[in-house]
Amino acid sequence: MARIPFIAGNWKMYKTAAEARDLARAVAEGAAGVAGVEVLLCPPFTALAAAADAVRGSAVKLGAQNCHFEKEGAFTGEVSAAMLADLGVHYVLCGHSERRQFFGDDDATVNKKVRAVLAAGLKPILCVGEKLAEREAGEGWKDLVRRQVEAGLAGVAAADVARVTVAYEPVWAIGTGKTATPAQAAEAHAIVRAAIQKLYGGEAAAAIRILYGGSVKPDNVKALMAQEDIDGALVGGASLKAETFLPLVRFRD
Ligand code: PEP
Repeated sequence: MARIPFIAGNWKMYKTAAEARDLARAVAEGAAGVAGVEVLLCPPFTALAAAADAVRGSAVKLGAQNCHFEKEGAFTGEVSAAMLADLGVHYVLCGHSERRQFFGDDDATVNKKVRAVLAAGLKPILCVGEKLAEREAGEGWKDLVRRQVEAGLAGVAAADVARVTVAYEPVWAIGTGKTATPAQAAEAHAIVRAAIQKLYGGEAAAAIRILYGGSVKPDNVKALMAQEDIDGALVGGASLKAETFLPLVRFRD
């Protein structure tokens, strides 16, 4: 089964509602003629409704950057997966490295979020990736990435794994301008796919999409997307302007 390329923008803590509306509209218009690529925008919570208005009627989908794992309750400042579904969100990032680094999301929390997103009928994007020191310490980063995949998917039924996307994002390449070489990214993606195969079998491994994230830009997207196991990109900085995001959506041009 062919995996449809998937280009996702993570706007992080940028864009007011009005700015988000403008950018989402520009992306929806610019992506309108592009067939065979799934396009996702992940604005901050406060801009989701405005972005939803802007992409209505287009093929562009909306994602959230995080959620809480409980359905509801006394969790001041948090947002549940069901609340996101109600806004028209399709995907939720789980375990982005900035959540892991600054907000205490560990593998167990990330796993709870993945399962909560699935339970709400949405699609999790499970983010994994090693830090610079881990990459430089030898081969151990490979086990770490495998473990993040296994822990993130613990308790996820085989029937649900088809709704999961994995994003491999080496932390040393996020927002740093340093991109993993296509060969480095391809090696890591093969590790992720092998981990899925071990957990869920060959069919699931062949079907799951694995995105690369880490300073993806118009001038490196083609070489990354040419790799067999790279099915798309999770993009931070370059997703903040239509001029730099749309060329990623049009990576085949
Ligand atoms: C990200 O936020 O997931 C990301 C990969 O950021 P950047 O593209 O800016 O490195």
